[in-house]
Amino acid sequence: MCNLACHHCHVEAGPKRTEVMTRGVMERILGWLDGAGSSAGFEVVDLTGGAPEMNPAFRWLVGELRARGLHVIDRCNLTILLEPGYEDMAGFLAEHGVEVTASLPCYLEDNVDKQRGSGVYEGSIEALRVLNEAGYGAPGRDLRLDLVYNPVGYGLPPAQERLEGDYKAYLLEHFGIRFNRLWTITNMPIKRFEHALRRDGAYEAYIGKLMGAHHSVNVEAVMCRSLVSVGWLGSVYDCDFNQMLQMPIEPDRYGAGADEHEVETESRKLWDYSVDELVGRSIRTGTHCFGCTAGAGSSCTGALS
Ligand code: SF4
Ligand code: SF4
Repeated sequence: MCNLACHHCHVEAGPKRTEVMTRGVMERILGWLDGAGSSAGFEVVDLTGGAPEMNPAFRWLVGELRARGLHVIDRCNLTILLEPGYEDMAGFLAEHGVEVTASLPCYLEDNVDKQRGSGVYEGSIEALRVLNEAGYGAPGRDLRLDLVYNPVGYGLPPAQERLEGDYKAYLLEHFGIRFNRLWTITNMPIKRFEHALRRDGAYEAYIGKLMGAHHSVNVEAVMCRSLVSVGWLGSVYDCDFNQMLQMPIEPDRYGAGADEHEVETESRKLWDYSVDELVGRSIRTGTHCFGCTAGAGSSCTGALS
């Protein structure tokens, strides 16, 4: 579920989606972390959606994770912080020491509104001000605020460090906004972004561009080597791209075009696994994986090389 419905969204989120992880599923995950999963040494829980803050049990879950000493990241679309009922969310996140990773696909208004909808840039800037006021991004504070860039068109991201400098200079000069790091992320050729590519007759060219820019050094650092992605009913995937492609970590028994609810419902759940099964597993790959290995590489924490 999300308050936005961005053109490039690889999880096809929006206000009309109904999939929400219940507190019951969260309790089973926490129980696994406390028991069979405790030997894995998990350190970070990265909460994403949709807009994860819209989950009715979001605040409860953050409290439970922090009480276990886990570092929590909130993947925030910024505009949710301005919605009725969420006005105190920035303060809540700061109070609980939650790291915020926020989407801002460009520092210029036109590009953001083109991808995310009219007025989203203005709301995002206001939300960044709110986060800065809560202490995020401030020098000497331990409240980390990172921004995420993804290309507005059909190209690969530019060099991360140079773009970060441009973002920092522009946002500080025009709005007095500070943040820590900028992560550049490649658009994955799946779901809404794939539909747009196919509509524009650009799918084959985009895949060719990704494959042509493949750098094998990035294979060593792709994020699926160090994380698991847990779906809204508790099923386990190598990453949330595989989740959206109905590719759970267990051997394929669904095939292309499988119903996503059926896969999420029937797949083995996190609490059915031992740590050894998760650590030693093979990663399921596909053409979309070139989105992680092209150019400087791409992951939930930006470029890889
Ligand atoms: S804000 Fe994020 S999750 Fe929501 S529709 Fe946009 S890309 Fe998807
Ligand atoms: S390389 Fe493939 S499996 Fe690994 S994170 Fe990227 S898309 Fe997911």
